[in-house]
Amino acid sequence: MDQRALDQSTATQDEVDSRLLARALEMGAGIVMITDELGRIQYVNRAFEEETGYTLKEVKGRKPSMLKSGLQSPGFYQKLWRTLNAGDQFTDVLINRKKDGTIYYEQKTITPLFIDEAGQAQKFISIGRDITDQIVEQRRLTRFVSYDPVTELPNRHLFSERLSQAIVRQKRDAGSLAMVFLNLHRFRRINETLGYEAGDRVLKDVAQRLNSILGEVATLARLSGDNFAFFVEGDQSACLEGLMKSVIDAFRLPIYCCSEKIFLNVSMGVSLYPECNTADVLIKNAETAMVKSKSTGVDQYRFYTSDLNMHNKYKLSMEAELRRAIEKQEFELHYQPQIDLATKELVGVEALIRWNHPKRGMIPPNDFIPLLEETSLILQAGEWVFHQACRDCIDIRSQGFPCNRVAVNLSALQFYNEQLPRVIESVLAEMKLEACALELEITESVVMTGIQRALDTLRGLADLGVRLAVDDFGTGYSSLAYLKQFPVHVLKLASPFVQGVPSDTRDVGISRAIIALAHNLDLEVVAEGVESEEQVNFLAEEQCDIVQGYYFSRPLPKNQLIAFIDRWCK
Ligand code: C2E
Ligand code: MG
Ligand code: MG
Repeated sequence: MDQRALDQSTATQDEVDSRLLARALEMGAGIVMITDELGRIQYVNRAFEEETGYTLKEVKGRKPSMLKSGLQSPGFYQKLWRTLNAGDQFTDVLINRKKDGTIYYEQKTITPLFIDEAGQAQKFISIGRDITDQIVEQRRLTRFVSYDPVTELPNRHLFSERLSQAIVRQKRDAGSLAMVFLNLHRFRRINETLGYEAGDRVLKDVAQRLNSILGEVATLARLSGDNFAFFVEGDQSACLEGLMKSVIDAFRLPIYCCSEKIFLNVSMGVSLYPECNTADVLIKNAETAMVKSKSTGVDQYRFYTSDLNMHNKYKLSMEAELRRAIEKQEFELHYQPQIDLATKELVGVEALIRWNHPKRGMIPPNDFIPLLEETSLILQAGEWVFHQACRDCIDIRSQGFPCNRVAVNLSALQFYNEQLPRVIESVLAEMKLEACALELEITESVVMTGIQRALDTLRGLADLGVRLAVDDFGTGYSSLAYLKQFPVHVLKLASPFVQGVPSDTRDVGISRAIIALAHNLDLEVVAEGVESEEQVNFLAEEQCDIVQGYYFSRPLPKNQLIAFIDRWCK
């Protein structure tokens, strides 16, 4: 009935008013339900029908509990009835279920009506509105603020909040807590070689592995990039070392991604409450311990001690000094001769960088290459190495001494840098050195990280005509199937094996196998770290092609190298 019809009727004003109200309830946007004193539904409006899918006929006489989703606690309903029975209005969000089973959130106000003398309500009217969209959006935002979208683990913000709460709990119980900062090795290389999407997939896999070990006992998070963290509280701290060993073991299996088999290693650092007593300090110190652990190898962990902070400061000042070293050209190249075992000819030299520090003297590469890599300064330093090595080779030749080829070591970052072929080409052109006089040494672990990309890079380099060598062979995980496809010319038998021969039977076995493998693949073998005559004899018997090591010469500055070549060739 519309307004005009109402006006025209002969009804009394009260009747007109109540029909109007009824009409407003019926057509209003709010979800309306009226129940009687026994809590049975008497009336629902159209909005209710549209929202829930139930018609008035279907719900009439039934109880509103028919809509319960089961997602709210009995305590919630007890509070609702306590409020209504006291004659008060109840306002809250009810999580209900529609006829088709879907859940909806209703912001509802229930009002007791017609309270009798005994204080009992005769009717209840509830008016509500669907706020499901709002709740979903709110949750999305909360997840956004507190969770890492890639791994769905808590992010740094939520982790540090939970860590602070845990500290409060442990303080109260006079307990303890251990926090572990975990970093992946070579993750940056995965992003660089396979792309960010692949990197994300690897991170997801890492999160799942960690979750399956730590999910029950620890609070786990991804703090940033390739940094994860977890903490264990109270009694659980006792199993901490076991957990860390399980984590290390979990990474012994490869991750499969983009048809690549990826091996990741981890480093962990541990800080403890009450020694460190705020979330920030725990995180900072565990990270410091992780960095220290990482600098000494892979798949290890280390506990924080206060002297590590000193180490951090030292690192910062080292970085500034390295920048200066590049600017002021404080680096030097020393050369180690490589001798052909059959002909005893000097066939080449390996260029090895040193840092001639104005105060601390000559610093070996293992003490600064990792930091050069971390800071990407290796790209600049590496370019200098190419120039210098080629320049020295030409210079030695121009003084009338043989220098067939010079080998230069490449770090991972250099190897995967797209500019590398261009840089090499331009250095060779500038120095007027033939490409085959330059050998590039790439360690086994670098080429085996992202095999497809490594294969492309190696092919690009081989196309330039330079020689390629796999350095420190036998110390990483090599996939022989791929090795066959690599366009490399040389395998360098890693010095730990060489140093064990001929006395250590296992080193003998490994060295023999590597030499045979290389020859079967038509590759030359260079044994490095040769220190004794027995080693030379063993290698000669095994038909190793080339040797280098202190037995012949330590790495020498250019002038001393020239003197060595002079003596050697006589
Ligand atoms: P590498 O390429 O495997 O070099 C061989 C290392 O063994 C050199 O150490 C060399 O001095 C040492 N060595 C040679 N003969 C013997 C021996 O008979 N006994 C023993 N115990 N050691 C021997 P160095 O010069 O300290 O270099 C260490 C590593 O630093 C190199 O290992 C290489 O990976 C890296 N490196 C050196 N120069 C460069 C560079 O210009 N660029 C890059 N990216 N890395 C470099
Ligand atoms: Mg080398
Ligand atoms: Mg080596």
